[in-house]
Amino acid sequence: MSSEPIARDLPPTETNPPAARGGLAALAARATAESEALWSLDREWPDETLKGRAYRARRLRIRLLRHAVQGLFLALVLWIGFDFVRWVRGLEVGRIVGERPPGVDGFLPISGLMSLRHLFHTGEISPVHPAALVILLLVIGMSLLVKKAFCSWVCPVGAVSEALDSLSRRLFRRRISLPRWLDLPLRSLKYLLLGFFAWAIFFQMTPALIAEFLAAPYNRVADIKMLYFFENLSPFAGKVLVGLAALSLLVPYAWCRYLCPYGALLGITSLLAPFKIVRHAPSCIDCGLCAKACPARLPVDRLQRIHSDECFGCLSCTADCPVPRALRLESPRWYARPLRPAVAAVALVALFGAGVLAARLTGNWQNSVPDAEYLHRIHELDGPQYDHLR
Ligand code: SF4
Ligand code: SF4
Repeated sequence: MSSEPIARDLPPTETNPPAARGGLAALAARATAESEALWSLDREWPDETLKGRAYRARRLRIRLLRHAVQGLFLALVLWIGFDFVRWVRGLEVGRIVGERPPGVDGFLPISGLMSLRHLFHTGEISPVHPAALVILLLVIGMSLLVKKAFCSWVCPVGAVSEALDSLSRRLFRRRISLPRWLDLPLRSLKYLLLGFFAWAIFFQMTPALIAEFLAAPYNRVADIKMLYFFENLSPFAGKVLVGLAALSLLVPYAWCRYLCPYGALLGITSLLAPFKIVRHAPSCIDCGLCAKACPARLPVDRLQRIHSDECFGCLSCTADCPVPRALRLESPRWYARPLRPAVAAVALVALFGAGVLAARLTGNWQNSVPDAEYLHRIHELDGPQYDHLR
């Protein structure tokens, strides 16, 4: 998460109740006033340079919006994880405890990619871990709306990377970054990884092989295999994870910037996003605060429109810009007005929610593998048919 203070430092709004009212009523009135302030944020884009309290208030509120959405999704992921672990613990002792949360399929990106290929070929969604494909499509949908917004508003790994960036800045009192000559080739690593997966799935495997993989025992219990992988980390895998965390302290966003194939995929699709950060040179006072705030190290203060595949759509640049009119999230084509931060937040959450609801209603959310099959298979996971992709 960002190192900047958020809600607790928000200055009072005009409609804030006097402190003397105290108690729950005052708290509720304060929350209502703050919600209204968040919703109406950037309704107008004054050409003046904000200073002092007004500048800090706008900056904190834009950041608060993103952190609120990030917190919402993080809580959802934790809840899904807790529910899934409880369900698996039940299977281990021969009982069905609650329901398997379908959202856990979001952690099976390979299965999702295989299903995507299957969808292209057959026009059908595989009934085994269908939520893996639904979530993949929703994440791509987000990137087709506001750049790589999934990385900065939703992804739990992105949230951890942001927290490590914040810690790194506290420890080293500045944001450390690699020199451009090293940064550029390293950024291509994630595209190489994505290229490898795409080549293997879309060019090396036949449709029959894809269908066979999706129906294979390995894929049917891939969710439990994944849980066991993280619960029983091998010394090597443990060292890799610790190494990545240490690397992210020294080089902020190292995983997202250099290695994440998901981020690479979204980087490509995000090039089509209509909503992009746009700088209005006549209003810009060349303070450079936007570039300083950018976690993707983009020269926002020198560009007119941010097309880069690295843009996370995080709005940190607009939050830190002291001239609201100078830097905005906007589309020149079919949406005449810039997108307000609160509308962007609601749109991203609504897109995700509507996608999940549509998948539920069309029967493409619940896994088709019955509990009885899981009960049987969980005791034979050491068998050769679960060792590798068959
Ligand atoms: S350009 Fe702005 S929105 Fe894009 S990553 Fe940088 S700070 Fe975030
Ligand atoms: S666009 Fe960037 S350089 Fe221009 S005023 Fe805003 S923060 Fe400063």
